[in-house]
Amino acid sequence: MNPIITLLPGDGIGPEVVDAARQVLAAVAPNLEMQSALIGGCAIDATGSPLPEETLALCRQADAVLLGAVGGPKWDDPAAAVRPEQGLLGLRKGLGLYANLRPVQPHPDLLSASPLRPERLDGVDLLVVRELTGGIYFGQPRQRREVDGEIQALDTMVYSDGEIRRVVRLAFDLARERRKKVTAVDKANVLESSRLWRQVAAQVAAEYPDVVFETLLVDAAAMHLLTRPTDFDVMVTANLFGDILTDEASVLTGSMGNMPSASLGESLNRLGKPRGLYEPIHGSAPDIAGKGVANPIGAILSAAMLLRHSLGMADEAQAVERAVEAAITAGHRTADLTRDGETALSTAEITEMILANLNA
Ligand code: NAD
Repeated sequence: MNPIITLLPGDGIGPEVVDAARQVLAAVAPNLEMQSALIGGCAIDATGSPLPEETLALCRQADAVLLGAVGGPKWDDPAAAVRPEQGLLGLRKGLGLYANLRPVQPHPDLLSASPLRPERLDGVDLLVVRELTGGIYFGQPRQRREVDGEIQALDTMVYSDGEIRRVVRLAFDLARERRKKVTAVDKANVLESSRLWRQVAAQVAAEYPDVVFETLLVDAAAMHLLTRPTDFDVMVTANLFGDILTDEASVLTGSMGNMPSASLGESLNRLGKPRGLYEPIHGSAPDIAGKGVANPIGAILSAAMLLRHSLGMADEAQAVERAVEAAITAGHRTADLTRDGETALSTAEITEMILANLNA
């Protein structure tokens, strides 16, 4: 049985970086079957919907999905009823993806690309696990209303113990494959939903006596991520806190173009693994789209995560990660990573270098 991957190139630089990742996947795992579908702005133009039925069906049939990016100025009208981002939210919901994983592991040769001092970053290797389908982004009621002649707006942060338990368990399972430490981040000194997070996280921790467990308030976590980032292994947190902390953590690596992500859910693929959605964390970068200069490393490392988490191909995943690492160590850089006097490679050129390292 050949694994099936659905590619969703999307908009802007999405097709450029997904094509690079496709070449790497084809080289490292020739038995993969890959099919492409529309999402985002290009899907709106072609079908009127940012997530056509056919796309969702192809993603549900696949063993994993690799996405580029969606959006761009053409579809940016805030008053528009149909927007590219709805495609992404619909896909997460449609595939039941409740956890977002963002590894942060700056390459030693790129530490100077971060605004933080290199000695703070040396040895950083952390994974943020963000709850993705609950919390204040989805809680009801959510409304505007008039109270005593004033307009009031209301959002609701709500979590059930089951929602917390499944994502915290995933964090502990992942920690077992890493340095065996979990930090649960909450705001338990103020929020009732955070007190439930802390209680459930402690219950789950008792099931994993081999994993070190600690809790941290989100305000302190925001600070400690910058002052002692090497102390963290797996950090697990609610949707809102994770949204903010993952962007903060991305600063540690210096370039968004290098960073991959995975979203996993309960639905299992034909291999008995999570049917995940894998994507670089960057957007569609309209300012450089079509120029052939985008950094494809975030997409290529997302493909490595896909091999590891959805296909159980750990050796192939590691081969891809090593090929990327070797290309950076050899000094190959796209324009987002070059400094004065360094030559910038195109998307195609750096992809060639990575492919050559795969075969080395
Ligand atoms: P962006 O990530 O697209 O770009 C920010 C800056 O980083 C730009 O200067 C861009 O050129 C640069 N950059 C990003 N990725 C790069 C890469 N791989 N190589 C080299 N440089 C890269 O963020 P933005 O400009 O805020 O958003 C542009 C569009 O993307 C918007 O329509 C936004 O809604 C959308 N967006 C989509 C996603 C997604 O699909 N997951 C995420 C964020 C933003």
